[in-house]
Order: sequence, then C-alpha cells, then structure tokens
Amino acid sequence: MHELPVMNGILKVVMKHAVMNNVSKVVAIQLQVGKLSDLEEKWMQHYFDYLTKGTVADGAKLEIEWGDVVMRCAGCEKEFTTEPGTDTFGSCTHCGGQGGEILSGKEYYVKNMVAQ
Ligand SMILES: [Zn+2]
Repeated sequence: MHELPVMNGILKVVMKHAVMNNVSKVVAIQLQVGKLSDLEEKWMQHYFDYLTKGTVADGAKLEIEWGDVVMRCAGCEKEFTTEPGTDTFGSCTHCGGQGGEILSGKEYYVKNMVAQ
C-alpha cells in the first residue's frame, strides 16, 4: 500500500507545523490530493490513524479536497481540465486532440490544519 509512506510524509509536515505553532491537539487536516495520485481516502485515514497514535494528531480527521487534472494538449498546446474515469479523459477541450503533458493531478500536500 503506497498510502503508508505518503501519510508518513504528511504526518511529518503536520508535526513540524504543530511544534512551530505550539499546538497541543490537531483535530482536522485539510489535504489537497490530485485525482491522479492513486491515493484512496479510506486507506489514507486508516494509515493516518495508525501513524498518529499517541501524537498530537491522534484522532484527527482528514478532509480531502480532490484536485482537478490539468493537461497541456500535445496538439494545440493549450491547457485543459480533464476528469479521470470518463470517456473524455485526456481529450483536449479546445481542439479535441488526445493526450499531452500532465501539469497537475498527481500532487498531494497539506493545505491547512485545524488545532483545538
Ligand atoms: Zn488541443
């Protein structure tokens, strides 16, 4: 499960901010996750719960915001947003061309955290 190392990395960021801001309890963490990241919400929460046992983030709820996939068309070089899992995934909304460079959609990062 690739969520484990990912959540470990996220937890490190959270702990660093908790220490910097003198937080004693983290109740929620807002994450931005690209729709192409291959991360599953239930596994993310599962591993997060496991990793945070006994830390200031113990019991914190993950609030995941799924980021759009943005590509640059190989044909017309314009940027377009595309929805994974649909028939039109990867097709340019400007010229109808197929494929191109993925500009965003695989990233994940901590957007915000809510302390008590
Ligand atoms: Zn195009």
